[in-house]
Amino acid sequence: DDMLPKYKRILLKLSGESLMGENSFGMDPNVIAGYAQDIKIITDLGVQVAIVIGGGNIYRGMNEQETGIERAQGDYMGMLATVINGMALQSGLEKIGVYTRLQSAIKMEQVAEPYIRRRAIRHLEKGRVVIFGAGTGNPYFTTDTAGSLRAIEIKADVILKGTRVDGIYTADPEKDPDAKKFEQITFSEVISRSLKVMDMTAFTLCQENNLPIIVFDMNKPGNLLRVVTGDNVGTLVK
Ligand code: UDP
Repeated sequence: DDMLPKYKRILLKLSGESLMGENSFGMDPNVIAGYAQDIKIITDLGVQVAIVIGGGNIYRGMNEQETGIERAQGDYMGMLATVINGMALQSGLEKIGVYTRLQSAIKMEQVAEPYIRRRAIRHLEKGRVVIFGAGTGNPYFTTDTAGSLRAIEIKADVILKGTRVDGIYTADPEKDPDAKKFEQITFSEVISRSLKVMDMTAFTLCQENNLPIIVFDMNKPGNLLRVVTGDNVGTLVK
């Protein structure tokens, strides 16, 4: 049966920017509905799904020069943005009958459970999609790092990094027409070739804990299912 999932528990990392779709800010309801549909399909197969979502479509704290707001303050603002995105995705999922829980690394009891690792695992075992909001809860980190960290904590089999590029290339495929895609690559080769997969903190966490990463194009409907059933979609780092 080719519909047999290859992974039992995954952590899906989505960027905030991907939620914008064709817009230049905020979120596109069609994108959210599409993601929700793709996620529902794999949960129906019995895959346990945890999600970390970024906040770049609403706020990015990193650049103090640009924002005029000091880094740590801006980072907390960015973390709050991820909770907004998490709530949007939660709504999209629940609309189509997927049970979800949103857990936030920054306490806000009225809208989300606090992050409790063992409770998150329990939700996953019960088939609920768990969305982790507010990144790591710490400034100076990224949601990629939150994704790696949570994936390791919940013992996910793999972290799936949904991007708008369909994998890792020898060079930026949007700039270099000769860029070639890797089907598979090792952690050390990513480093020796100075390829950009995730920021170093996030990447090193995966490497040190033997957590494979798959970079794939989440904007192509059906791709998530293909990745989860072991099709050669995207690039596997292991
Ligand atoms: N952020 C943070 N700590 C974290 C995760 C995120 O301070 O653990 C802040 C940081 O300012 C970042 C913003 O939240 O710029 C939004 O997250 P990110 O840029 O990773 O989102 P994405 O690029 O995936 O949309």
